[in-house]
Amino acid sequence: MKPAPFAAYLVLIAGIAAVPAAHAEWVTRVTDGIMGTRITVELWADDEAKAQPAIEAVLAEMRHIDESMSTYKPTSEVSQVNAHAADGPVHISKELFDLLTTAREYSVLTDGAFDITYASVGYMYDFRKRIRPTEAEIDAALPAVNYEHVLLDPAAQTVRFSQRGVRIDLGGIAKGYAVDRGIDVLKSSGITRAFVSAGGDSRIIGDRFGKPWIVGVRDPRKGPGEALLRIPLVDAAISTSGDYERFFDEGGVRYHHIIDPHTGHSASKVRSATVIARTATRTDGLSKTAFVLGPDKAMEIYNRIDDIDAIIVKLDGTVVYSRGMRRAAPANAAPAAEPTQPPAGNP
Ligand code: ADP
Ligand code: MG
Repeated sequence: MKPAPFAAYLVLIAGIAAVPAAHAEWVTRVTDGIMGTRITVELWADDEAKAQPAIEAVLAEMRHIDESMSTYKPTSEVSQVNAHAADGPVHISKELFDLLTTAREYSVLTDGAFDITYASVGYMYDFRKRIRPTEAEIDAALPAVNYEHVLLDPAAQTVRFSQRGVRIDLGGIAKGYAVDRGIDVLKSSGITRAFVSAGGDSRIIGDRFGKPWIVGVRDPRKGPGEALLRIPLVDAAISTSGDYERFFDEGGVRYHHIIDPHTGHSASKVRSATVIARTATRTDGLSKTAFVLGPDKAMEIYNRIDDIDAIIVKLDGTVVYSRGMRRAAPANAAPAAEPTQPPAGNP
Protein backbone atom coordinates (compact mmCIF):
# COMPACT_ATOMS: atom_id res chain seq x y z
CA MET A 1 0.00 0.00 0.00
CA LYS A 2 1.22 3.50 -0.75
CA PRO A 3 2.19 5.27 2.49
CA ALA A 4 0.42 8.50 3.36
CA PRO A 5 3.06 10.93 2.06
CA PHE A 6 1.59 13.98 3.64
CA ALA A 7 1.76 12.52 7.14
CA ALA A 8 5.54 12.78 6.93
CA TYR A 9 5.54 16.54 7.03
CA LEU A 10 2.07 17.64 8.08
CA VAL A 11 2.37 17.92 11.81
CA LEU A 12 -0.60 18.05 14.08
CA ILE A 13 -0.52 20.76 16.65
CA ALA A 14 1.27 19.13 19.52
CA GLY A 15 4.69 19.07 21.08
CA ILE A 16 6.53 20.74 23.85
CA ALA A 17 7.91 24.20 23.23
CA ALA A 18 11.61 24.64 23.84
CA VAL A 19 12.54 27.74 25.81
CA PRO A 20 14.37 30.19 23.53
CA ALA A 21 17.37 32.14 24.77
CA ALA A 22 16.60 35.68 25.94
CA HIS A 23 18.47 37.62 23.21
CA ALA A 24 17.12 35.48 20.41
CA GLU A 25 14.17 36.53 18.26
CA TRP A 26 12.09 36.13 15.11
CA VAL A 27 13.34 38.41 12.34
CA THR A 28 11.31 39.18 9.19
CA ARG A 29 12.33 40.97 5.98
CA VAL A 30 10.03 41.70 3.04
CA THR A 31 11.67 42.84 -0.22
CA ASP A 32 9.99 43.75 -3.51
CA GLY A 33 11.54 43.80 -6.95
CA ILE A 34 13.65 40.66 -7.23
CA MET A 35 12.33 38.34 -9.97
CA GLY A 36 9.44 40.78 -10.31
CA THR A 37 7.90 39.56 -7.09
CA ARG A 38 7.82 39.88 -3.31
CA ILE A 39 10.43 38.01 -1.31
CA THR A 40 9.72 37.25 2.34
CA VAL A 41 12.31 35.82 4.72
CA GLU A 42 11.38 35.07 8.31
CA LEU A 43 13.75 33.28 10.62
CA TRP A 44 14.60 32.51 14.20
CA ALA A 45 17.99 33.92 15.14
CA ASP A 46 19.80 33.01 18.33
CA ASP A 47 21.64 36.23 17.79
CA GLU A 48 19.93 39.10 15.95
CA ALA A 49 23.27 40.37 14.63
CA LYS A 50 23.70 37.17 12.62
CA ALA A 51 20.20 37.34 11.14
CA GLN A 52 20.63 40.38 8.88
CA PRO A 53 23.75 39.10 7.05
CA ALA A 54 22.00 35.74 6.55
CA ILE A 55 19.00 37.51 5.01
CA GLU A 56 21.33 39.64 2.84
CA ALA A 57 22.97 36.45 1.59
CA VAL A 58 19.56 35.00 0.65
CA LEU A 59 18.65 38.15 -1.29
CA ALA A 60 22.04 38.20 -3.03
CA GLU A 61 21.52 34.61 -4.13
CA MET A 62 18.06 35.47 -5.48
CA ARG A 63 19.43 38.50 -7.36
CA HIS A 64 22.04 36.24 -8.93
CA ILE A 65 19.32 33.79 -10.06
CA ASP A 66 17.29 36.69 -11.48
CA GLU A 67 20.35 37.97 -13.40
CA SER A 68 21.03 34.53 -14.84
CA MET A 69 17.51 33.30 -15.57
CA SER A 70 15.27 36.26 -16.37
CA THR A 71 14.08 36.55 -19.96
CA TYR A 72 13.46 40.27 -19.30
CA LYS A 73 17.23 40.78 -19.09
CA PRO A 74 18.89 40.45 -22.53
CA THR A 75 22.23 39.72 -20.84
CA SER A 76 20.93 36.76 -18.82
CA GLU A 77 22.18 33.29 -19.56
CA VAL A 78 18.67 32.20 -20.53
CA SER A 79 18.35 35.11 -22.99
CA GLN A 80 21.70 34.10 -24.52
CA VAL A 81 20.40 30.53 -24.90
CA ASN A 82 17.24 31.84 -26.59
CA ALA A 83 19.34 33.95 -28.94
CA HIS A 84 21.82 31.25 -29.99
CA ALA A 85 20.70 27.68 -29.19
CA ALA A 86 18.96 27.20 -32.55
CA ASP A 87 22.32 27.86 -34.27
CA GLY A 88 24.22 25.22 -32.29
CA PRO A 89 25.14 24.01 -28.80
CA VAL A 90 25.49 26.75 -26.17
CA HIS A 91 27.70 26.08 -23.18
CA ILE A 92 25.88 26.95 -19.96
CA SER A 93 26.57 27.03 -16.23
CA LYS A 94 26.15 23.85 -14.22
CA GLU A 95 23.37 25.59 -12.30
CA LEU A 96 21.31 26.34 -15.41
CA PHE A 97 22.06 22.93 -16.92
CA ASP A 98 20.79 21.19 -13.80
CA LEU A 99 17.62 23.29 -13.69
CA LEU A 100 16.91 22.58 -17.37
CA THR A 101 17.35 18.88 -16.58
CA THR A 102 14.88 19.19 -13.71
CA ALA A 103 12.43 21.09 -15.93
CA ARG A 104 12.56 18.27 -18.44
CA GLU A 105 11.86 15.76 -15.68
CA TYR A 106 8.71 17.71 -14.72
CA SER A 107 7.57 17.78 -18.35
CA VAL A 108 7.76 13.99 -18.39
CA LEU A 109 5.99 13.68 -15.01
CA THR A 110 3.12 15.94 -16.10
CA ASP A 111 2.54 14.50 -19.57
CA GLY A 112 3.90 17.72 -21.07
CA ALA A 113 1.68 20.13 -19.09
CA PHE A 114 4.79 21.76 -17.63
CA ASP A 115 6.91 22.84 -20.56
CA ILE A 116 9.44 25.68 -20.52
CA THR A 117 9.13 26.00 -24.32
CA TYR A 118 5.60 27.37 -23.73
CA ALA A 119 7.51 30.63 -24.20
CA SER A 120 7.77 30.04 -27.97
CA VAL A 121 4.13 31.22 -27.94
CA GLY A 122 4.07 32.76 -24.47
CA TYR A 123 6.44 35.60 -25.37
CA MET A 124 3.68 37.12 -27.50
CA TYR A 125 1.43 37.68 -24.46
CA ASP A 126 1.70 40.72 -22.23
CA PHE A 127 -0.89 40.43 -19.48
CA ARG A 128 -0.19 43.86 -18.03
CA LYS A 129 -0.70 45.54 -21.41
CA ARG A 130 -3.65 43.26 -22.34
CA ILE A 131 -1.76 42.02 -25.40
CA ARG A 132 -2.29 38.53 -26.84
CA PRO A 133 -1.31 36.85 -30.10
CA THR A 134 -3.79 36.28 -32.93
CA GLU A 135 -4.88 32.72 -33.79
CA ALA A 136 -2.65 32.88 -36.88
CA GLU A 137 0.36 33.90 -34.78
CA ILE A 138 -0.33 31.08 -32.32
CA ASP A 139 -0.66 28.52 -35.14
CA ALA A 140 2.62 29.65 -36.66
CA ALA A 141 4.55 29.48 -33.39
CA LEU A 142 2.97 26.37 -31.83
CA PRO A 143 5.19 23.74 -33.51
CA ALA A 144 8.12 25.20 -31.57
CA VAL A 145 6.43 24.38 -28.25
CA ASN A 146 7.68 20.97 -27.15
CA TYR A 147 10.19 20.21 -24.41
CA GLU A 148 11.74 17.59 -26.66
CA HIS A 149 13.11 20.43 -28.81
CA VAL A 150 15.51 21.26 -25.93
CA LEU A 151 18.55 19.00 -26.37
CA LEU A 152 20.78 18.71 -23.32
CA ASP A 153 24.28 17.27 -23.51
CA PRO A 154 25.52 16.48 -19.97
CA ALA A 155 29.07 15.63 -21.05
CA ALA A 156 29.59 18.94 -22.83
CA GLN A 157 27.18 20.85 -20.51
CA THR A 158 25.47 22.43 -23.49
CA VAL A 159 21.95 23.10 -24.66
CA ARG A 160 20.74 23.21 -28.25
CA PHE A 161 17.32 23.73 -29.81
CA SER A 162 16.32 21.23 -32.47
CA GLN A 163 14.55 23.91 -34.53
CA ARG A 164 14.14 27.65 -35.01
CA GLY A 165 11.45 29.53 -33.14
CA VAL A 166 12.02 27.68 -29.85
CA ARG A 167 12.19 29.87 -26.75
CA ILE A 168 12.44 28.85 -23.14
CA ASP A 169 11.28 30.67 -20.03
CA LEU A 170 11.88 29.50 -16.48
CA GLY A 171 9.10 31.67 -14.98
CA GLY A 172 7.30 28.49 -13.93
CA ILE A 173 10.17 27.09 -11.89
CA ALA A 174 12.79 29.76 -11.12
CA LYS A 175 11.02 31.28 -8.12
CA GLY A 176 10.70 27.89 -6.49
CA TYR A 177 14.34 27.23 -7.27
CA ALA A 178 15.32 30.59 -5.78
CA VAL A 179 13.41 29.75 -2.60
CA ASP A 180 15.27 26.44 -2.32
CA ARG A 181 18.60 28.21 -2.81
CA GLY A 182 17.57 30.75 -0.16
CA ILE A 183 16.84 27.92 2.25
CA ASP A 184 20.24 26.36 1.46
CA VAL A 185 21.93 29.67 2.23
CA LEU A 186 20.12 29.94 5.58
CA LYS A 187 20.94 26.35 6.50
CA SER A 188 24.61 26.96 5.77
CA SER A 189 24.45 30.01 8.07
CA GLY A 190 23.25 27.71 10.86
CA ILE A 191 19.58 28.79 10.73
CA THR A 192 17.24 25.95 11.66
CA ARG A 193 13.79 27.64 11.71
CA ALA A 194 12.81 29.77 8.75
CA PHE A 195 10.22 30.65 6.13
CA VAL A 196 11.26 31.87 2.66
CA SER A 197 8.83 32.82 -0.10
CA ALA A 198 9.02 34.34 -3.58
CA GLY A 199 5.56 35.18 -4.92
CA GLY A 200 3.47 32.02 -4.75
CA ASP A 201 6.33 29.72 -3.79
CA SER A 202 7.33 29.09 -0.18
CA ARG A 203 9.45 26.74 1.86
CA ILE A 204 9.86 26.18 5.55
CA ILE A 205 12.65 24.68 7.62
CA GLY A 206 12.03 23.56 11.16
CA ASP A 207 9.00 24.39 13.25
CA ARG A 208 7.95 27.23 15.54
CA PHE A 209 9.12 25.66 18.79
CA GLY A 210 6.88 22.63 18.92
CA LYS A 211 4.23 24.18 16.68
CA PRO A 212 3.98 24.02 12.89
CA TRP A 213 4.17 27.03 10.63
CA ILE A 214 0.74 27.96 9.32
CA VAL A 215 0.60 28.90 5.64
CA GLY A 216 -2.51 30.47 4.13
CA VAL A 217 -3.85 29.42 0.74
CA ARG A 218 -5.68 32.28 -0.94
CA ASP A 219 -9.31 32.10 -1.96
CA PRO A 220 -9.05 32.56 -5.76
CA ARG A 221 -12.07 34.86 -5.96
CA LYS A 222 -11.39 36.99 -2.87
CA GLY A 223 -8.83 39.63 -1.93
CA PRO A 224 -5.11 38.87 -1.55
CA GLY A 225 -5.30 38.59 2.24
CA GLU A 226 -8.24 36.19 2.31
CA ALA A 227 -7.31 32.62 3.13
CA LEU A 228 -9.40 29.73 1.90
CA LEU A 229 -7.39 27.30 4.00
CA ARG A 230 -4.67 27.48 6.59
CA ILE A 231 -2.22 24.62 6.38
CA PRO A 232 0.14 23.57 9.20
CA LEU A 233 3.56 22.63 7.83
CA VAL A 234 7.02 21.69 9.06
CA ASP A 235 10.02 21.12 6.76
CA ALA A 236 7.98 21.43 3.58
CA ALA A 237 7.49 23.55 0.47
CA ILE A 238 4.19 24.84 -0.88
CA SER A 239 3.28 26.62 -4.12
CA THR A 240 0.01 28.01 -5.33
CA SER A 241 -0.72 28.89 -8.94
CA GLY A 242 -3.83 30.95 -9.58
CA ASP A 243 -5.66 32.38 -12.57
CA TYR A 244 -5.89 35.66 -10.62
CA GLU A 245 -2.14 36.41 -10.62
CA ARG A 246 -1.48 37.95 -14.03
CA PHE A 247 -4.53 38.20 -16.24
CA PHE A 248 -6.95 40.32 -18.20
CA ASP A 249 -10.57 39.61 -19.08
CA GLU A 250 -11.84 40.27 -22.60
CA GLY A 251 -15.14 39.23 -24.16
CA GLY A 252 -15.96 36.99 -21.21
CA VAL A 253 -12.63 35.12 -21.50
CA ARG A 254 -9.89 35.25 -18.92
CA TYR A 255 -6.43 35.45 -20.46
CA HIS A 256 -3.83 34.58 -17.84
CA HIS A 257 -0.24 33.60 -17.41
CA ILE A 258 -0.31 29.80 -17.53
CA ILE A 259 -0.21 28.57 -21.12
CA ASP A 260 -1.41 25.21 -22.39
CA PRO A 261 1.56 23.89 -24.40
CA HIS A 262 -0.81 21.93 -26.64
CA THR A 263 -2.94 24.91 -27.73
CA GLY A 264 -0.92 28.06 -26.99
CA HIS A 265 -3.94 29.50 -25.18
CA SER A 266 -4.34 30.26 -21.47
CA ALA A 267 -4.86 27.06 -19.55
CA SER A 268 -8.07 27.63 -17.65
CA LYS A 269 -9.28 24.27 -16.36
CA VAL A 270 -9.05 25.23 -12.65
CA ARG A 271 -9.01 28.43 -10.57
CA SER A 272 -6.04 27.51 -8.45
CA ALA A 273 -3.76 24.62 -7.59
CA THR A 274 -1.64 24.25 -4.48
CA VAL A 275 1.11 21.66 -4.31
CA ILE A 276 3.01 20.55 -1.19
CA ALA A 277 6.31 18.66 -1.36
CA ARG A 278 9.81 18.78 0.08
CA THR A 279 11.30 21.38 -2.26
CA ALA A 280 9.90 24.55 -3.77
CA THR A 281 11.43 23.80 -7.18
CA ARG A 282 9.19 20.76 -7.25
CA THR A 283 6.04 22.47 -5.94
CA ASP A 284 6.50 25.39 -8.35
CA GLY A 285 7.05 23.11 -11.34
CA LEU A 286 4.08 20.91 -10.55
CA SER A 287 1.52 23.57 -9.60
CA LYS A 288 0.83 24.47 -13.26
CA THR A 289 -0.32 20.94 -14.20
CA ALA A 290 -3.93 21.24 -13.05
CA PHE A 291 -4.53 24.32 -15.23
CA VAL A 292 -3.50 22.43 -18.33
CA LEU A 293 -4.83 18.94 -17.65
CA GLY A 294 -7.88 19.70 -15.50
CA PRO A 295 -8.61 18.59 -11.94
CA ASP A 296 -9.22 14.87 -12.55
CA LYS A 297 -6.17 14.10 -14.67
CA ALA A 298 -3.98 16.37 -12.52
CA MET A 299 -5.13 14.70 -9.30
CA GLU A 300 -4.36 11.33 -10.85
CA ILE A 301 -0.80 12.52 -11.50
CA TYR A 302 -0.46 14.15 -8.07
CA ASN A 303 -1.70 10.97 -6.38
CA ARG A 304 0.73 8.91 -8.45
CA ILE A 305 3.78 10.84 -7.17
CA ASP A 306 4.55 9.67 -3.63
CA ASP A 307 6.14 12.79 -2.21
CA ILE A 308 3.54 15.38 -3.21
CA ASP A 309 0.10 16.47 -2.12
CA ALA A 310 -2.29 18.92 -3.71
CA ILE A 311 -5.37 21.06 -3.23
CA ILE A 312 -7.27 22.17 -6.33
CA VAL A 313 -9.98 24.83 -6.49
CA LYS A 314 -12.13 23.81 -9.44
CA LEU A 315 -13.89 26.18 -11.83
CA ASP A 316 -17.14 25.84 -9.86
CA GLY A 317 -15.32 26.84 -6.67
CA THR A 318 -15.34 23.38 -5.06
CA VAL A 319 -12.12 22.19 -3.47
CA VAL A 320 -10.57 18.77 -4.04
CA TYR A 321 -7.70 17.19 -2.09
CA SER A 322 -5.07 14.60 -2.96
CA ARG A 323 -5.22 11.26 -1.19
CA GLY A 324 -2.52 12.02 1.37
CA MET A 325 -4.32 15.17 2.49
CA ARG A 326 -7.62 13.42 2.93
CA ARG A 327 -5.91 11.06 5.38
CA ALA A 328 -4.44 13.96 7.34
CA ALA A 329 -6.25 16.21 9.79
CA PRO A 330 -8.59 18.88 8.36
CA ALA A 331 -6.25 21.44 6.86
CA ASN A 332 -8.04 24.40 8.39
CA ALA A 333 -8.03 22.97 11.90
CA ALA A 334 -5.29 25.29 13.11
CA PRO A 335 -6.43 27.57 15.94
CA ALA A 336 -6.98 31.20 15.00
CA ALA A 337 -4.35 32.44 17.45
CA GLU A 338 -1.48 30.85 15.52
CA PRO A 339 0.55 33.32 13.42
CA THR A 340 -0.28 32.68 9.76
CA GLN A 341 1.96 33.34 6.78
CA PRO A 342 -0.34 35.32 4.49
CA PRO A 343 -1.70 33.64 1.37
CA ALA A 344 1.14 33.56 -1.11
CA GLY A 345 1.17 35.47 -4.37
CA ASN A 346 2.48 38.54 -6.09
CA PRO A 347 2.15 41.90 -4.31
P1 ADP B 1 4.17 32.84 -10.31
O1 ADP B 1 4.93 33.36 -11.49
O2 ADP B 1 3.33 33.89 -9.65
O3 ADP B 1 5.01 32.03 -9.36
P2 ADP B 1 3.17 30.33 -11.27
O4 ADP B 1 4.03 29.57 -10.35
O5 ADP B 1 1.75 29.88 -11.42
O6 ADP B 1 3.08 31.87 -10.92
O7 ADP B 1 3.90 30.29 -12.67
C1 ADP B 1 3.37 30.95 -13.78
C2 ADP B 1 4.48 31.19 -14.76
O8 ADP B 1 4.88 29.94 -15.32
C3 ADP B 1 4.08 32.04 -15.94
O9 ADP B 1 4.21 33.41 -15.66
C4 ADP B 1 5.08 31.57 -16.98
O10 ADP B 1 6.33 32.23 -16.80
C5 ADP B 1 5.29 30.11 -16.66
N1 ADP B 1 4.46 29.20 -17.45
C6 ADP B 1 3.27 29.43 -18.05
N2 ADP B 1 2.77 28.33 -18.63
C7 ADP B 1 3.68 27.35 -18.41
C8 ADP B 1 3.75 25.96 -18.78
N3 ADP B 1 2.78 25.35 -19.45
N4 ADP B 1 4.83 25.26 -18.37
C9 ADP B 1 5.84 25.87 -17.68
N5 ADP B 1 5.83 27.16 -17.30
C10 ADP B 1 4.76 27.89 -17.67
MG1 MG C 1 5.59 30.03 -9.06
